[in-house]
Amino acid sequence: MTNRELFEKARGLMPGGVSSPVRAFKAVGGDPIIVSHAKGCRIWDVEGKEYIDFLMSWGPLILGHCHPRVVKALEDQLQKGLSYGITNAHEITLAQMVVSAMPSVQMVRFVSSGTEATMSAIRLARGYTGRKYIVKFEGCYHGHYDGLLVSAGSGVATLGIPGTPGVPEEIASLTLVLPYNNVEALKEAFEKYGEDIACVIVEPIAGNMGTVPPKDGFLEALRELTRKYSALLIFDEVMTNFRVSKGGAQELYSIEPDITCMGKVIGGGMPLGAYGGRKEIMEKVAPEGPIYQAGTLSGNPMAVVCGIATLSEVFEKNPYEQLEQTSKYLCDSLSEILSRKGIPHTINRVGSMLTVFFTDKEVYDYSTAKSSDLGMFAKFFRALLREGVLIPPSQFEAWFLSTAHTREDIDQALSRIERAVSSI
Ligand code: PLP
Repeated sequence: MTNRELFEKARGLMPGGVSSPVRAFKAVGGDPIIVSHAKGCRIWDVEGKEYIDFLMSWGPLILGHCHPRVVKALEDQLQKGLSYGITNAHEITLAQMVVSAMPSVQMVRFVSSGTEATMSAIRLARGYTGRKYIVKFEGCYHGHYDGLLVSAGSGVATLGIPGTPGVPEEIASLTLVLPYNNVEALKEAFEKYGEDIACVIVEPIAGNMGTVPPKDGFLEALRELTRKYSALLIFDEVMTNFRVSKGGAQELYSIEPDITCMGKVIGGGMPLGAYGGRKEIMEKVAPEGPIYQAGTLSGNPMAVVCGIATLSEVFEKNPYEQLEQTSKYLCDSLSEILSRKGIPHTINRVGSMLTVFFTDKEVYDYSTAKSSDLGMFAKFFRALLREGVLIPPSQFEAWFLSTAHTREDIDQALSRIERAVSSI
C-alpha cells in the first residue's frame, strides 16, 4: 500500500490519522509519510523511499535509530519480562546515573512521558509551597496537561489553536503567561502575584517555538526572583536533558533549578520520563510524603534498560563535541545555500538542536518566531521531503542530530537540500 492509501485508512480509524497532531503534516500540506523502518540516521517509508532523518523521533534518539548497544539491551531484557509492577534493579542504576549527571537532582521519580513529568512536577510544586498560581512562557510547550496548554508551543502553535477547548477557565486562570526572555515582564509579575506563585516552569532552551536560546541574564533572573519570593523553579529539560550536555541546560548555563523534568533522551526512544530535585522537595512525593503520583508502567524495565544503554554510551563516549561540530557544519553550509538563493533566514542552534526560521530578524521569543515566513517553511519542508530529507513538519519545532549523522551523511543531506532549495 502507498503512503496515501494507508493515511486515508488511518484517517477513518484515528483522529487526523495520527497518534499525535503534528504528524498529520497539516501545517505543511501534502501527504504524510507512513514509516516502515529506520536505521542509523536514515528512515524509510512504506513505499521504500529513504530519508536522512533530522526529526529523530522529536529528540530521544541521540545515538540514531537501532544503535547496537541499545538493541542488545532491549533483546536481553525481552527474555526477562516486559513489566513487573515491582521495583527492578535497573531503575536504581538509572536513578544513580541521573543523580550523578545533575547535581540539582538528589532524588528522582520515573514516569512514562514528558507530560507526566511536568504535570507531576507542577502538583509537587503546588503541594510543597501551598500556593496555586504557576508561571509559564508564551511558546513554551510542556506536554498536554490542562494548566500548561495555555499559550503553548509545538502542536498548539503549529495548528494555531488559540485557547484550549476542554480546559475549564478556572484552571487556565491559574496559569500566568509571560513572554520568553523578558526579565521586565517577569519582575512585574512577581511584584504583583509573587506571594501566590507556586512555581515558574520554563524550557531553559526553548525548542517548541523552534529553537530559542535564553538571553544572557534571563535564567539568572528567574533563579533570583523565584528564590526571593520562595517559589520553585522548574526546568523542563524534557528536550534538553542529556542532549545539550551530560548535565543538560542547567549545566550549560550554570543555574540550579529546584525541580527538573526529564524525557526523550533519558529513555533513548522508549516511553520514559522523570522528575527530580532536592531531597527535601522529593520527599514530599508519595509514599514518602503526601503528594500523590503513581503509574502502572512507571519504571518499566524495557524503557529503563533502553535509557541505561543510551546514557551509558553517551557518558562513555562524551559525544557533545562531535555533535557540536557536525551540527555547526550543517548550519553553516545550509545558511550558505539559502543565502546563495537570496532566501532570508535565521538559524538558531544550541549543540545538536536547531531551527531554521525564514526571517532575517533575530528570533528570541514567540512573537519573533511567528515572524518567520510560514509559507516559505511549508515549501522548504515539502521540497526537502521530495529530495529525501526529513525535518519536523512544523516551523515551531527543533531539528535534532545524532551520533549516527556522520560528516558524509551531512554532505549527502546538503546536496539533497541544495537540490530542494533550487526547486523552490
Ligand atoms: N516538555 C517539553 C520541553 C517537550 O518538548 C515535550 C514534548 O515534546 C514535553 C514536555 C512532553 O513530552 P511527551 O510528549 O513525552 O509527553
